Amino acid sequence: MHKLTQTTLTLHGLGRCVLGKKRSSAAKFISRGLACAEHVDDSGKNEVYDVIISGGGMVGSAMACSLGMDPNLEGKKILLLEAGNKKVMDKVPDTYSTRVSSISPGSATLLSSIGAWDQITQMRCKPYKKMQVWDACSDALITFDKENFEDEMAYIVENDVVVAALTRQLDSLPGNVQVKYRSKVVNYSWPMPHQAADSLPWVQVTLASGETVQTKLLIGADGPNSMVRQKLGIPIVKWDYDQSAVVAVLHLSEPTENNVAWQRFLPTGPIAMLPLSDTVSSLVWSTSHRLAEELLSLDEESFVDAVNSAFWSNENQSELIERAGSMFRSALSAVMPSAGSPRQLPPSVAGIGTKSRVMFPLAAGHASEYVRHRAALIGDAAHRVHPLAGQGVNLGFGDVACLTQHLSQAAFSGKDLGAIQHLLEYETERQRHNLPMMAAIDFMKRLYSTNAAPVVLLRTFGLQATNMLPLLKEQIMGYANK
Ligand SMILES: Cc1cc2nc3c(=O)[nH]c(=O)nc-3n(C[C@H](O)[C@H](O)[C@H](O)COP(=O)(O)OP(=O)(O)OC[C@H]3O[C@@H](n4cnc5c(N)ncnc54)[C@H](O)[C@@H]3O)c2cc1C
Repeated sequence: MHKLTQTTLTLHGLGRCVLGKKRSSAAKFISRGLACAEHVDDSGKNEVYDVIISGGGMVGSAMACSLGMDPNLEGKKILLLEAGNKKVMDKVPDTYSTRVSSISPGSATLLSSIGAWDQITQMRCKPYKKMQVWDACSDALITFDKENFEDEMAYIVENDVVVAALTRQLDSLPGNVQVKYRSKVVNYSWPMPHQAADSLPWVQVTLASGETVQTKLLIGADGPNSMVRQKLGIPIVKWDYDQSAVVAVLHLSEPTENNVAWQRFLPTGPIAMLPLSDTVSSLVWSTSHRLAEELLSLDEESFVDAVNSAFWSNENQSELIERAGSMFRSALSAVMPSAGSPRQLPPSVAGIGTKSRVMFPLAAGHASEYVRHRAALIGDAAHRVHPLAGQGVNLGFGDVACLTQHLSQAAFSGKDLGAIQHLLEYETERQRHNLPMMAAIDFMKRLYSTNAAPVVLLRTFGLQATNMLPLLKEQIMGYANK
């Protein structure tokens, strides 16, 4: 409870500076430094790029594609730096990867606009039409689906497939976008707002190879431990969930349509089964570090039993909660227009994929600023969330769409791309979207982390009531799909 209060206060604090923004762009402009007058580096020692993106994960690669394909940015020199190897996929592997993401329709639209979505659907991607979320401590459930199952709710895609599709797109772009793989950045240095005339006005980027490049705008897409964010000295509010996510590939007992994403809230954390094909699903099981370690050490049969039991067992339910929940449901159905979708049973699991089970420690964090003079943060470098709502990379793709739009407008108006004015507009727009989403995810995580009867009762009533309000559910889906 103490932790809940602390985080809620922290999020309120962040919200005050961003959501209730009274500070004008002009005030922030002054506090964060003026843009330098543009002039060309004549040192001849290292190249000057208009934009350098540091980090070529899903978000950084999408950013490079998006900028490279924007007509207003034609002729701008863009460089993507990635510490790892180039991820090519000539043929999709027979076995599924353990790392997958639920991609929202909004993200699919972005990926489509940069030509990567066609590649993804040709490679491998599984749409789903419904989501069922239910409580292990009661009968309460909520379902989300598109009317009449006509449209896709979202898509489960392997992260490697997303990056491989973006890599293909980057390869197909004309020469204004350059990508350097196996190029780890080891240092960044920023020009002072009022730069001495004889020193370099751009951001200096030093690679592990010793090479130095310069840029008018540095975009940090270098993940949750972002060195760009650290070097800028941007404070981050972060908190640990004392949980790890165990991920694995699950083989179902029998083929099914498999177009539902399942998530059950256990007192130890949420467990999700996400469809990959008619017979294969992906597991994301968030639980205590100790239980996660135990799950990894189990033999295959015991692990499969543990997964099935986590989805099916009623050991956490009590008669009192069950009776109160059922009375509340009957009372609601007398006054509510919709009874909500009926409960469906998840498929049972028969085995796991050959790729090993893996665990990832879970944490959340939010950078108090997304931009500074000549720099912007996107993706996990700016915000990290618990995977229970499948929103992490979707928030990152939202950043990409928003930053592209502001940079495109700046280029169209002949402005300096690294100038703080339009970067602040990006920050305001994204923080207004990201912060409420982060607060909601964190609240859900904490609300379901207990089996104390009063809390279980409250959330049972809340979930049942929400399930019977189709308009509210549509609004929730609409917000998550932005
Ligand atoms: C178990 C789990 C399940 C998840 N499920 C979902 C989901 O269903 N839906 C969803 O939307 N999100 C999901 N997420 C979140 C999602 O995976 C992340 O939000 C996303 O991967 C962030 O992408 P990114 O490109 O911002 O960062 P990263 O993936 O961390 O990429 C950063 C890149 O920067 C490179 N880099 C770092 N430092 C340097 C340097 N110094 N120089 C050069 N390169 C550098 C790294 O090599 C890396 O390629 C999940 C997360 C977890 C842990």
